[in-house]
Amino acid sequence: MDLDRRIRTVGYWYRIQAGKDASNKPIVLGHESAGIITKVGSKVTTLKVGDRVAMEPGKYCLRCEFCKAGSYSQCQNVKCAAAEGVDGTLHAYYSLPADVCYKLPDSMSLEEGALPGRGIDLVIDCSGAPVCIQTGIFLAKRRGTYVQVGAGTPNVLVPMITVFVKELRIKGSLRYGPGCYGPGCYGMTIDLVHQGRVQLKPLITHRFPFNQADLAFKTTKDGVGPDGKLAIKTIIPRTLPGVV
Ligand SMILES: [Zn+2]
Repeated sequence: MDLDRRIRTVGYWYRIQAGKDASNKPIVLGHESAGIITKVGSKVTTLKVGDRVAMEPGKYCLRCEFCKAGSYSQCQNVKCAAAEGVDGTLHAYYSLPADVCYKLPDSMSLEEGALPGRGIDLVIDCSGAPVCIQTGIFLAKRRGTYVQVGAGTPNVLVPMITVFVKELRIKGSLRYGPGCYGPGCYGMTIDLVHQGRVQLKPLITHRFPFNQADLAFKTTKDGVGPDGKLAIKTIIPRTLPGVV
């Protein structure tokens, strides 16, 4: 059921620090990604070679109690790109189950496909940066919901009095399943982008060729590019050897 795809564009994360995960051995990075399918398994009916897809980074076990309950983002046996010793999507090829690959409409670029994360209409922090977390809590409406998606600084000073006064609901959201919006958040986000209700392109502030990946990582770490501009999302296009 697995399929291989050619990765054209990948987003990546700089540090690996989701929960217990802290890898010291070298691995290939590359997490949220989009690509072009180059091969499909014989039983795959939903996708074909040449399709452009957004990809969840994880391969879930589908057998643990969380997977059986539909909460696969909490899968205890997940093999996740660029996490816990698993090589990431900056490989030229990457194999994933078809059901975690989402076909992109023609209106969406691969770069946008690498960015759909989680939705809208509440405060969702995707940075993990203390100042953004604090700002997000201040921006949330009374009795609103704040969702932590980004993994950044492990321990953050939170304006708890504001949480208390506004009666905010604070949620964590790990990976791509039900943590925030229930199964299908990838498909829902692609729809929102396709309808023009969510703009992803302004989030892409920098692009670096693959042979300057170290500069891309530095830009993300510093939050500022060599051009002096604020860095939000940095993209590394990954083409196959010999492919322009
Ligand atoms: Zn599982």
